[in-house]
Amino acid sequence: MTNLVLFGPPGAGKGTQADILKEKYQLVHISTGDVFRYNIKNQTGLGLTAKSFIDKGQLVPDEVTINMLNAEVEKNPEAKGFIFDGFPRTEKQADALAESLKAKGTEVKAMIALEVEDEVLVKRLLERGKTSGRKDDADEAVIRNRITVYYEETAILKEYYKKQDKYYGVDGVGSVEEITDRISNVIDKL
Ligand code: AMP
Repeated sequence: MTNLVLFGPPGAGKGTQADILKEKYQLVHISTGDVFRYNIKNQTGLGLTAKSFIDKGQLVPDEVTINMLNAEVEKNPEAKGFIFDGFPRTEKQADALAESLKAKGTEVKAMIALEVEDEVLVKRLLERGKTSGRKDDADEAVIRNRITVYYEETAILKEYYKKQDKYYGVDGVGSVEEITDRISNVIDKL
């Protein structure tokens, strides 16, 4: 199995690239943000819990997120591999992912991190907010909080995967095609 963690701050382009890469490499794409938004739209209990955190730009608690992620993995027993987008975001989540993949006799093959400067992220997210309908893209203070949360709670995972020799940084600025090519160069050499 080829299991990839597509990593980067909010607005780095993880979702856009994951949509392309899942077709190209026949992988199952799991975006925890998308699963939360689906649950919010359908007014499930999970959605209700998640909404209060997401609207403020905070992380949804680990336990809730990990249980949800495991359920998504279990829904795809035939997968040739997964692209995880927006997960893991904490060390606890990274440990849980390792554990659940280990139970399947597999592991994370690589973390591919999209690198984009903060001011470019804010600009991109404000632009996306005009059409995405996402409340957390519409307010600059919430956007900046999401970026702060990324640095304070999530960015440490680069070290986590570096220690395992699984970290690959990719320049996340350029055209969508250019960035897909850069990521594909990494995947093709794994
Ligand atoms: P995203 O679509 O990845 O930008 O995620 C949108 C929001 O969903 C985040 O700002 C968090 O509130 C929540 N979220 C998504 N993934 C996670 C995760 N792995 N852990 C905690 N919260 C998450």
